[in-house]
Amino acid sequence: MIPVLGFAEANVAVLGLGRSGLATARALRAGEAIPVCWDDNPATREAAEAEGFTCRDLHKQGAFDDIASLIVSPGIPHLYPKSNPVVRAALEAGVPVDNDIGLFFRSVATPEWDNFERLPRVVAVTGSNGKSTTVALLHHILESAGKEVQMAGNIGRGVLDIDPPTDGGLVVLELSSYQIELARSLTPDVAIFTNLSPDHLDRHGGLGGYFAAKRRLFAEGGPDRAIIGVDEDEGMFLAGQMSMGQADDRVIRVSSGRKLAGAGWNVFARKGFLSEYRKGRQAGSIDLRAMTGLPGAHNHQNACAAYAAARTLGLAPRMIEGALETYPGLPHRSQTIAEVDGVRYVNDSKATNVDSAAKALSAFKKVRWICGGLEKDGGLEGLKGATGTVQKAYVIGREAAKFALQLDVEAEVCGSMAVAVERAMADAQEGETVLLAPAAASFDQYDSFEKRGDDFIAEVTGRLG
Ligand code: ADP
Repeated sequence: MIPVLGFAEANVAVLGLGRSGLATARALRAGEAIPVCWDDNPATREAAEAEGFTCRDLHKQGAFDDIASLIVSPGIPHLYPKSNPVVRAALEAGVPVDNDIGLFFRSVATPEWDNFERLPRVVAVTGSNGKSTTVALLHHILESAGKEVQMAGNIGRGVLDIDPPTDGGLVVLELSSYQIELARSLTPDVAIFTNLSPDHLDRHGGLGGYFAAKRRLFAEGGPDRAIIGVDEDEGMFLAGQMSMGQADDRVIRVSSGRKLAGAGWNVFARKGFLSEYRKGRQAGSIDLRAMTGLPGAHNHQNACAAYAAARTLGLAPRMIEGALETYPGLPHRSQTIAEVDGVRYVNDSKATNVDSAAKALSAFKKVRWICGGLEKDGGLEGLKGATGTVQKAYVIGREAAKFALQLDVEAEVCGSMAVAVERAMADAQEGETVLLAPAAASFDQYDSFEKRGDDFIAEVTGRLG
């Protein structure tokens, strides 16, 4: 655990008592602060009280009179679509609002670090898609190189749950736009921006707000090294803002598909090959085509970002190449679950938005595509032109008929996963891929994308016998 510094003997309010809220309360207590907890759900309050924490109704008049700071869980909207009344009350009372990420960055470095030979370093990863994969891949590379490394944030442990880094220790964090937007301290040593496509627009008041939230990771902390995907205008703009000139190698530009020829530091993947160029000279090259854990151009983008971070941390290209070969992949992301009679079955339930589904579709040759669910803001426009590999779509979800009508491929309204898998399997020919890549959230039929992916796996394996 990372004890929170700077609040000894002070009351610190904690709003939201899920996994990260409770971890925050514990870390505050370890730093001798006095957590004052609240969650609108009585069951979670009871869980906090069972651990000896005090709960106080933060909706009540005057609740913030003696509070030094309010720490908010990522699921609670602080501004859009409507600010939470407790957050509003704190702001009205002039109380600083922060989150566990802000507490982490103000607390992770301790006086003990002065005795270390090599300072610990924190790498933070954000972007619309590919965060978890990039984090897991970088973690795998660093571990393979024998480094002491911890993975936290949206993946792995909560940020305040990790062990205090020791001499030369590394921490790799996955940070969402919600988390970055609210954090009052953001000082990673290396920051990665994977890509940008519309998502969570309701929470950020539109695409501009969403980009501005992610951008804070670079603007506030001024990382020593910024690794930025430049395949969208926003990434290009951010890379431009971060660099002092063409040869400034504090920025590493990353592309999937484009040769980057500038005088700075570039890592890109084209036609399945990763290349690193620094000061106009090639410094590394890796054939990614045989890396089974990383299929498709989108995963090659993740490989480039993780490679760039590993290079920044001092690893040699050959060392990284060996680790890429052994990367096992994450569940629910391009996860091959079976290959029977020449048909491949792939679970990409995490493709919850249009861009990630489009990328998943382009990673395979002939696709029987299971899609549908709770549609996101922005509609399905982005799928147009991305369905070239699709033989047929099998649509699930409560609004399956409406979803199917918006697709530019032959589509069958299946409703349930069971029917979709049955129909797709019946149609699938040798050489084809049955792919779950929903392009939608899961909440109309499942508690989470993980449950949806598990259902797909169960339906497929049950039928394969
Ligand atoms: P995140 O943590 O950002 O949601 P994940 O690594 O969990 O990212 O991948 C989420 C989804 O996006 C998966 O369906 C995956 O196939 C797809 N994806 C992964 N990497 C990329 C990328 N670089 N660009 C676009 N889509 C991606």
